[in-house]
Amino acid sequence: MKVKKIIARKEKKQFIEDIKREVSIAKKRVYYIDDVNKDFDIKEGVISKKDLKKKDGSIIKTNQNKEFVIFSPSFIDQYKKIKRTAQIITTKDAAAIIAETGINKNSTVVDAGAGSGALSCFLANYAKKVYSYELRDDFIEVVSKNIKMLELKNITIKKKDIYNGIDKKNIDLITLDLPEPWKVIEHAEKSLNIGGFIVSYSTSIPQTADFVNNIRKNERFIFIKTIELIEREWKIDGRRIRPKSEGLGYTGFISFARKIK
Ligand code: SAH
Repeated sequence: MKVKKIIARKEKKQFIEDIKREVSIAKKRVYYIDDVNKDFDIKEGVISKKDLKKKDGSIIKTNQNKEFVIFSPSFIDQYKKIKRTAQIITTKDAAAIIAETGINKNSTVVDAGAGSGALSCFLANYAKKVYSYELRDDFIEVVSKNIKMLELKNITIKKKDIYNGIDKKNIDLITLDLPEPWKVIEHAEKSLNIGGFIVSYSTSIPQTADFVNNIRKNERFIFIKTIELIEREWKIDGRRIRPKSEGLGYTGFISFARKIK
């Protein structure tokens, strides 16, 4: 779904004298709108299509007199709506890959397997070029749709088994999210620039160990580190503050290495 507009409404609270407590009189709500040519019907009433065309920051009202602010989506709003097939990488893990490798508008990246293309697309928002490899035709189709929806012009998706080789040179970063990442090390040797990074994301420890132990044995790479990132969201409501009970649990391990010769 391509998001055309977002409407948002702040939570409203009121102090009730009788119970000496603030109560919520309106819930925070955010809606993503994909068709601005028809009225938008929600719990809070109907917003007319005429109002959906108003400029960013405009206050619009439903027929039940409930106020919303309207604005245009950015990359991250659209990204969160991508179509999913395989389990996608989380933004916290993708962000760590960018932060630790420092890729930017001059960088060329190879990502495999593409899966839903989430990591490829996230990286393409920062890099000059991303080559994405995937084995399955049905997944390639999903990735292509996601690339189109995000209007990314710098990703090439290829049907290719990366265990058989990488057909690109002068690569700054190779990211791996597949069952046997150690099988890519010998190919990475040939494609990476000196100083380029190979980063493997794995959901299990045996995979992580095999990747790291193989990288360690290879004299052309230095192993940097393996990390697990734990994100804990907090609930903050007045002075009632505590970690949220639900939220992201375990995701995966990220191993970083660098080609030195
Ligand atoms: N990081 C991706 C998810 C990857 S899921 C995302 O964020 O969306 C792992 C994918 O690797 C699967 O789609 C699988 O088909 C693909 N794959 C497995 N082995 C592969 C190989 N040797 N070459 C290319 N792709 C491979």
